[in-house]
Amino acid sequence: MMKEYDQDCIFCKIAKSEIPSKIVYQNEFVTAFEDLSPVTPIHILIIPNGHYHDLNDCGENEASLLGHILLAAAKIAKDQGISDSGYRVVVNDGPDAGQTVFHLHFHLLGGRPMNFRSQ
Ligand code: 5GP
Ligand code: ZN
Repeated sequence: MMKEYDQDCIFCKIAKSEIPSKIVYQNEFVTAFEDLSPVTPIHILIIPNGHYHDLNDCGENEASLLGHILLAAAKIAKDQGISDSGYRVVVNDGPDAGQTVFHLHFHLLGGRPMNFRSQ
């Protein structure tokens, strides 16, 4: 269930600039900022401005929002100069995927070759 704001959520605070982060893009739907512990030379997190726990928290009403997140990923990839070299967009959802922050976020990864099968 979407909440405007969860007072215990670090990514809600980042979206509202209540704690510092390197924001690279923001619009009425999403905020994108550099990951604190990057695993690739370009590692940006893209989040909905409202608080969703994870993908399971999304339904038909979020179809457009989820589209905006992917469109933002493509735009940011272009801004970051990795459109042509390539990039990966990843959602870690739940324990097996190793989700650690429970505000839905998409990782935008690029700047070096990645081996999908070794994940
Ligand atoms: P997850 O493992 O949940 O898919 O990804 C969470 C990501 O959030 C991790 O890559 C982690 O480095 C990043 N992260 C956690 N806390 C912060 C923070 O306070 N600021 C920023 N910029 N990234 C964070
Ligand atoms: Zn949140």
